[in-house]
Amino acid sequence: MKSYPEIAEAVAEVRERIAGAARRSGRKPEEILLVAATKTVPTERIQEAIRAGVGALGENRVQEAEEKIREIRDKVAWHLVGHLQTNKARKAVEVFDWFHAVDSLHLAQAVGKRARELGKAVPVLVEVNTSGEVTKYGLSPERAGEELERIASVEGLAVKGLMTVGSFGPMEEARACFRNLRRLRDEIARCAFPNVSMEHLSMGMTNDFEVAIEEGATMVRIGTAIFGARN
Ligand SMILES: *Cc1c(COP(=O)(O)O)cnc(C)c1O
Repeated sequence: MKSYPEIAEAVAEVRERIAGAARRSGRKPEEILLVAATKTVPTERIQEAIRAGVGALGENRVQEAEEKIREIRDKVAWHLVGHLQTNKARKAVEVFDWFHAVDSLHLAQAVGKRARELGKAVPVLVEVNTSGEVTKYGLSPERAGEELERIASVEGLAVKGLMTVGSFGPMEEARACFRNLRRLRDEIARCAFPNVSMEHLSMGMTNDFEVAIEEGATMVRIGTAIFGARN
């Protein structure tokens, strides 16, 4: 894990790399949201990233996020970036501002139900398994459009785009995953389903975020490059 000054430096360096990739793809750096992936990272270190200007935090577990939110009082947005079990959906809606990994109608219904009770509309991204790797979550690209239309019909949700985890293989394989997600986004956008805006593509992690931005990412989820290796 990195020490405090190193975290601030790492945030600055990641921002520069984001800006470089944005320019290469003809976009403005401000169009890309840096979501700091903070699983297993202690709160003092997360606060160091917040002081360095990070305003969006990505967590994978509901309980871990809940504990951190109690300690971190700064006004930041909490993103659930990992897989969510349906039985944790109620709690998750109370804790998180954004959901990146909705991959079934069943889960969407559980999230939507609690959101309606709380009088909110939760922004969600639909996760697609672009690599075909069996260890990864997400809808198959073939089924994603159809299922997304059903998910978008659930009240209490606002579908804002797609999310994927790229292949961990060679970089060109990751690039193909991101390109396919973008194509799928464009196809779904043309369908103009009600309650769907396809403005966001959450893709890219420490090892592949620049390539993801070149292929159209609007949100990158970065942990290791900011905080160092996790134990
Ligand atoms: C941990 C995690 C990340 C960040 O991974 P790094 O390689 O550490 O940048 C991004 N997305 C998801 C879904 C994660 O679980």
